[in-house]
Amino acid sequence: SEQTYDVVVIGAGGAGFSAALEAAEAGKSVVILEKMPTVGGNTLISGGEMNAPDNWVQHALGITDDSPELYYQDTMKGGDNLGQPEIVKILSEQALGSAEWLRDEVKVEFLSDHLFQFGGHSRKRALIPIGHTGAELITKLKTKAEELGIKIKTNMKAEKLLTDESGKVVGVDASTNGQKVTFHANKGVIIATGGFGSNIEMRKKYNPELDESYMSTDTPGTTGDGIVMAQAVNADITNMENIQTYPICDPVTGVISLVADSRFDGAILINQGGTRFVEELERRDVISKAILAQEGRYAYQFWNQEIADIGKTIEVHQDEYDQLVKEGMLYKADTIEDAANFFKVDVETLKETISKVNEYAKTGKDLDYNHRGGLVSLEKGPYYIQKAVPSVHHTMGGLVIDTKAHVLSTEGTVIPGLYAAGEVTGVVHGANRLGGNAISDIITYGRIAGQEVAK
Ligand code: ADP
Repeated sequence: SEQTYDVVVIGAGGAGFSAALEAAEAGKSVVILEKMPTVGGNTLISGGEMNAPDNWVQHALGITDDSPELYYQDTMKGGDNLGQPEIVKILSEQALGSAEWLRDEVKVEFLSDHLFQFGGHSRKRALIPIGHTGAELITKLKTKAEELGIKIKTNMKAEKLLTDESGKVVGVDASTNGQKVTFHANKGVIIATGGFGSNIEMRKKYNPELDESYMSTDTPGTTGDGIVMAQAVNADITNMENIQTYPICDPVTGVISLVADSRFDGAILINQGGTRFVEELERRDVISKAILAQEGRYAYQFWNQEIADIGKTIEVHQDEYDQLVKEGMLYKADTIEDAANFFKVDVETLKETISKVNEYAKTGKDLDYNHRGGLVSLEKGPYYIQKAVPSVHHTMGGLVIDTKAHVLSTEGTVIPGLYAAGEVTGVVHGANRLGGNAISDIITYGRIAGQEVAK
């Protein structure tokens, strides 16, 4: 069958929804194609935190010295300066506007009194949606999309971009339950299909190190389809070898641990021997590498009730907590001895490590790893100890876009009618994406793509 819309969006994650909303607000008819039975992609299962410099929660907490410029510097540096400066500049200037748009137009609720300072950020600047996951974002984005009359087709896999004689992208061939459906696009097609972290063959093609020995935090739909489809119409790709592992994941399933977000409130990392080995607020790639260099290629995260009470990560992720306990990967202990014995960590070494942490917490200076958030005293129990491994999380590489979210060809020219936003693009995060920057990126560039296609 055949259907015609002004705009066809491929992928119903945060980028796809943002693009669709902007195009619909501009009066265009819009359809979103989603290959999975449900919407949301990795946006849904993420922590949903979003960096925005100089935001309202920072002001409420008395943080008044953040700026787009600082955020720009952190993001560029965090990616080893491999992000494209003009692309990152727009992200840093518009991230706050994107957050306000989510809050005011989409009615996303953020915590009013708590922020995260993810690794590599020089300020606490990540807004946290209620529930501490992307579910708040996706639920509200979907509601708004339905209000605006956007058609959402699940179980609809985009397979091929269609072009006219001039090379302009004019539609998409898709399939549902083995049946072909052609979607014609009067104005353009937006690719928002996410990354390729779940596609082991594709990972190995671009970075042989990330083979089947790594699990992935990603949804099964994260297979790089948009990259392959766009390459078939001569789109350029970049940065493909840069694949991020998230350091703290469930060793049984590979799933990202959000309970372990207690790390941003002061939890420490130790090895089997019971010593710290890295700054806990270092970049994800640095921590992952450090963990893989330890005996057994895993680590333990260790914290106490006082730290747990700051971010309440156990209460807000109770299902995950119960699952980890059931798997024997997380243990609540009354004493340090008890915690160490559960995982056969050397008790005396762990005690020494902790007394050093307590001392550094008092003096405010971590003489071993220079913890940028300041260590928190672990004097009082009860304690939590959690086993963790790195797991493939984000693919920094992908399609080359310009500042208007046009997809560029291998000759560096705009491919007419084709736009892309979100994890499928490869020009934002360079060698390493900082925590909280995916949501800022996908919402900002999703909106840009939607505004531009409507012009
Ligand atoms: P982003 O964070 O960039 O928005 P997500 O992972 O949240 O990325 O969302 C991407 C969405 O695109 C997922 O829901 C995924 O299932 C969907 N998707 C991927 N490939 C296709 C395809 N070929 N056709 C339709 N949807 C796709």
